[in-house]
Amino acid sequence: MNLRIIKDEKMGSVEEKMKSAKKRVYLDHAATTPVDPAVVDAMLPYFTRFYGNASSLHAYGREAHNAMDEARKNVAELINAESDEIIFTAGGTESDNIAIKGIAYKKKKGYIITSSIEHPAVLETCRALEREGFEVTYLPVDRFGTVYPSNVESAINDETILISIMHANNEIGTIQPIKEIAKIASESGIPFHTDAVQSAGKVPIDVRRMNIDLLSLSSHKIYGPKGVGALYIRKGVRIEPIIHGGGHERGLRSSTENIPGIVGFGKACELAKKRMDKDVPHLFKLRDTLIPNTVNTIEESYLNGHPKERLPNNAHFRFTAIEGESLIMSLDDEGIAASTGSACSSKKLEPSHVLMAIGLNEVEAHGSLRLTLGRENTDEEVEYVLEVLPEVVERLREISPLWKKEFEIERWRKEMEKR
Ligand SMILES: *Cc1c(COP(=O)(O)O)cnc(C)c1O
Repeated sequence: MNLRIIKDEKMGSVEEKMKSAKKRVYLDHAATTPVDPAVVDAMLPYFTRFYGNASSLHAYGREAHNAMDEARKNVAELINAESDEIIFTAGGTESDNIAIKGIAYKKKKGYIITSSIEHPAVLETCRALEREGFEVTYLPVDRFGTVYPSNVESAINDETILISIMHANNEIGTIQPIKEIAKIASESGIPFHTDAVQSAGKVPIDVRRMNIDLLSLSSHKIYGPKGVGALYIRKGVRIEPIIHGGGHERGLRSSTENIPGIVGFGKACELAKKRMDKDVPHLFKLRDTLIPNTVNTIEESYLNGHPKERLPNNAHFRFTAIEGESLIMSLDDEGIAASTGSACSSKKLEPSHVLMAIGLNEVEAHGSLRLTLGRENTDEEVEYVLEVLPEVVERLREISPLWKKEFEIERWRKEMEKR
């Protein structure tokens, strides 16, 4: 796969390159998004011209500080928070860590309630806390990947110190009833954290109306640069810092601020808010062409995740007798960038914890494909995928021993029915 790319790059003249350049369609926006050109433009001056340290007292420092204030305002406005409730971090993973460990270390001991389909940034943080003596309940989900608020309610006990349930799942796109869950948490006086990395910019978020105490965001999932994120901490919610140093970000995340990254993230939030009315219907239109046309044309293909309560850009399928990894490679050969699930688990061989949690068996889980759309995708690109995907699935099934077996079982079943 890599060899092909290297070969393409080395091919002679520009014209030859143009001719050999295959159509490329990026459908992996849940893994990361391209940086919007307007975001790049906003960032550039902060590398070479306004390069000050935001803590410095001179003009350079003030310029950096003002830029950061502006960005903080834009991040806050995307989720209806106040500027002083936002701290900048190095990404979604760090925000999740600061929120969960921050609460745990403040309380020193107790119970945490989360779900079995969280991103590893939450799951592994909880597992680490278990090793330190905290107790964690990983709530089950139904076959669509939904956490039931009633299950959250019955899991609460006197020692519960935190409830952390993601807003939308990064693999299957299911949107959780976090408003109901947050209400339960709030009525029990327990802080509620949500990982909104995938939903921000695609699903409206109002931390006030939704009773959210802590919320994680990541810049590179919403057309901003990588390595920047934010954590919203509602006024009055106290957390213990996990990174110690010069006292930046109200002492909760020391380290000289990544000003170009923060400026880019702020711009990305501003754009996301401004464009939501245009982007979301566009994503729905593409997705609602992609999903029915795939499951209706390809034999033995199914949609994973919730049919309605799902991210506007997520289509997650499973194909009987297909190996997800082979499918990704074959689609890559046709210029289509897809994924089996999360970027983190795709290099491991274990089946996705999310697919196991919705009740798939290992074989089914391995036959999955995630296509996640973005604002720059077009109708033509979706048409192209709908043309290529059935061919690729058919080709792979021709050489699949599993498919042959399924086929024989089916024939045998029909024979039996006739008797
Ligand atoms: C990508 C992602 C993260 C991690 O964000 P980074 O900025 O890459 O650290 C956390 N949670 C969810 C749901 C994600 O999709």
